[in-house]
Amino acid sequence: MQILDGKLVSQAVKDQLATQVASLKAQGKKIPHLAAILVGNNGASETYVASKVKSCAEIGYNSTLLRFEDTIPEKHLLDHIAMLNENPDIDGILVQLPLPKHINEELVINTIDPSKDVDGFHPMNVGKMVSGLPAFIPATPYGIMLILEHYNIETRGKHAVVIGRSHIVGTPVSILLSRNTNPGNCTVTLCHSHTKNLAELCRQADIVVAAIGRPNFVTADMVKEGAVVIDVGINRMEDASKKSGFRLVGDVDYAAVAPRCSYITPVPGGVGPMTIAALLKNTYLAATGQRGHQN
Ligand code: NAD
Repeated sequence: MQILDGKLVSQAVKDQLATQVASLKAQGKKIPHLAAILVGNNGASETYVASKVKSCAEIGYNSTLLRFEDTIPEKHLLDHIAMLNENPDIDGILVQLPLPKHINEELVINTIDPSKDVDGFHPMNVGKMVSGLPAFIPATPYGIMLILEHYNIETRGKHAVVIGRSHIVGTPVSILLSRNTNPGNCTVTLCHSHTKNLAELCRQADIVVAAIGRPNFVTADMVKEGAVVIDVGINRMEDASKKSGFRLVGDVDYAAVAPRCSYITPVPGGVGPMTIAALLKNTYLAATGQRGHQN
């Protein structure tokens, strides 16, 4: 069994981007600038945004963090996004989800200029991704593809079972794995809360992607010997021995499943760091006038 080390691969992506930014700087060209919007003070969102902003600084990007109270009127937030759309110094815009209930997430996403939509959630980018055109690919699915690519994992002709069909993870992963690309060319089964024979389908999988949001959902009896397992889940479990009072666990019962796998991503240290690397890659593409990832 080999661990797919998201920290290591993410660092490699960041090192490459840092070199590219240094070269832009040396040529007197514009440095990528990411604007992040955080509404309210959800603990997990705070952590995610902080590490995105920190990663920008590490590789020489500029970043701006806009923080708003969770009572911000929807119109006010949309106006701020419109200003960022118009600001030529801003290359990428990300709005940390989830948003408070009174704000329509779809409207917020649709307001972001697709050419600055580095989270890849705008319908324009989703449509382009589905059509195989250059597009900003959502960061987590993009990060998964980058880690598969880094470890040269053969995906062609494999049966991939993706558990979870969110727009952020499961659905785009299923599309990317089934496209005629490398990584890609899988036969994909997309499972969700209405899937009847989930354990049986999982047992047939060469590649399992777990994006459910339930700790230890995928157990050893659901995984075929030699399978590749990508654990997207980030679940906070109470743990009095930790200073924070919690520890992070994935959607996969790692201790029991790992010995059966050919490759597996740990939590933390797997898909999480890759998500940030992919976001930074998207921001670089936006800053250099490219309309996203090309196949
Ligand atoms: P979501 O709640 O939007 O979607 C969960 C999906 O799981 C749904 O499609 C649902 O149908 C499916 N599901 C729920 N119960 C099920 C069941 N019993 N059987 C089969 N399917 C079931 O969640 P999401 O935003 O896709 O996130 C999933 C997990 O990934 C969460 O733990 C989240 O924190 C994590 N996540 C991690 C990263 C990262 O960077 N590593 C990024 C995004 C999300």
